[in-house]
Amino acid sequence: MTSAVVVGSGPNGLAAAVVLARAGVAVTVLEAEDEIGGGTRSAELNVPGVLHDICSATHPTGVASPFFASLGLERHGLRWLWPEVDAAHPLDGGRAGVLFRDLDRTVDLLGRDGPAWRRLFEPLAEHADELIGEIFGPIIHVPRHPVLLARFGLRAMQPASWIARRWHTQEARGLFAGLAAHASHPLTRPTTGGLGLMFAMTSHAYGWPVAQGGSRAIAAALAADVVEHGGRIETGHRVTELPQADIVMFDTTPATVLDVAGSQIPARVARPLRRWRTGPAAFKVDFAVDGSVPWTNEWARKAGTVHVGGTLEQIVDAERQVHAGRMPARPFVLLCQQYLADPGRSSGDIHPVWAYAHVPTGFTGDATEAVIDQVERFAPGFRDRIVARTVTTPAQLEAHNANYAGGDIAGGANDPWQLVMRPRMSPNPYSLGVKGLYLCSASTPPGGGVHGMGGFHAATRALAELRELDG
Ligand SMILES: Cc1cc2nc3c(=O)[nH]c(=O)nc-3n(C[C@H](O)[C@H](O)[C@H](O)COP(=O)(O)OP(=O)(O)OC[C@H]3O[C@@H](n4cnc5c(N)ncnc54)[C@H](O)[C@@H]3O)c2cc1C
Repeated sequence: MTSAVVVGSGPNGLAAAVVLARAGVAVTVLEAEDEIGGGTRSAELNVPGVLHDICSATHPTGVASPFFASLGLERHGLRWLWPEVDAAHPLDGGRAGVLFRDLDRTVDLLGRDGPAWRRLFEPLAEHADELIGEIFGPIIHVPRHPVLLARFGLRAMQPASWIARRWHTQEARGLFAGLAAHASHPLTRPTTGGLGLMFAMTSHAYGWPVAQGGSRAIAAALAADVVEHGGRIETGHRVTELPQADIVMFDTTPATVLDVAGSQIPARVARPLRRWRTGPAAFKVDFAVDGSVPWTNEWARKAGTVHVGGTLEQIVDAERQVHAGRMPARPFVLLCQQYLADPGRSSGDIHPVWAYAHVPTGFTGDATEAVIDQVERFAPGFRDRIVARTVTTPAQLEAHNANYAGGDIAGGANDPWQLVMRPRMSPNPYSLGVKGLYLCSASTPPGGGVHGMGGFHAATRALAELRELDG
């Protein structure tokens, strides 16, 4: 019987294990931490009964993932829950750009920029399934929808700041900037528009749900599928030497691959892994809040995600500073209110509020007040409602998960080259150039996010390689 070891139990590692176990391979997942899930863990951090997502919170890529959809994970208890508003982008004076799954509602609220929003996103949302099939995998592939992909690609290569020029209002421009800022890269640089397009498309096509009972429910469902198909999962097992198995799948950083298996990997593959660059860091603050966040804008009070950074220009400036290694006074902050869709995460009137700021790589200062000040700017009185807070610095993020090197949560800098060539230029970027050795983490296509597609593609290729050798 073919054997496989998957190093790491993040969503990509578990996805790879599912594919292998379902194909009849004897799979063992080895996880360094005491709990499975990597970026999909949840816990009561500061107030009993108040459940926080430690890493990922909202799941546009999860609900869009064709692999997750194919698994029927509801059987294992995974249930997506949608907030009324996918994302809000508050501005001074109580205004906001508001993103609904319903395109018509979004367009209506955007006023004179509504028609231009529709012209850009309606065709993307209508063809989202086909486009996701093209972009949630390696860039070098034979496209099934070449014209669609070419049209998307030409726009996606542009800087977000260029794409935003088609709108006139701060609401539309800010809304798009907030989506594109997920790239954690200066919005004036090429390809940052791509993430903005992807996130708006997923919103209008699938919405931005949370997982009932916390993001850990995603890991639990995938793990249950692995076990159901005969796989094993061991926690508290940090891999430092190359495991003996027909297939070894790394759900880790390229640096870990080099540490563990560097001597086996051919120079042409090792070179790009060595050159792999980490991106800016996240500084996380989990609040327990009495009542709710008192957003001035009413839609922000109903939004699962709130992008807190002000105007397009202010976000461009903040991201530029972070990229240059400086901590901005007003950083870009992502804030999630998962309890709105999943009230079971709260205890009475005390609710979990999840937030993180983009900070420079390796940032060692304290950004807690900067995060609170940014929220307070659009939700006066927020500070007084904080009952408890748990701060996770970039170094603590890395201690929680070795993949978050320097606090980078995206599996590597999203610069134009690394965004598309992860971790190297090849139609099979998952292969480590040695029979049976594969990388499947967020450092492979399609990159960061909870979707399992890196694991799916890597494991599918590993099985194909085995079949070729056997045949
Ligand atoms: C604060 C934060 C917010 C985020 N928000 C979102 C969000 O809202 N939506 C979203 O889609 N994504 C979000 N993400 C990103 C998302 O969590 C990651 O992109 C995703 O988890 C990557 O999955 P992965 O399987 O590649 O790796 P990971 O989830 O990072 O898992 C890797 C696993 O490998 C283990 N490991 C590493 N080295 C070893 C070793 N040597 N031996 C054994 N095990 C090892 C780690 O312990 C870990 O469990 C967020 C991340 C963070 C940190």
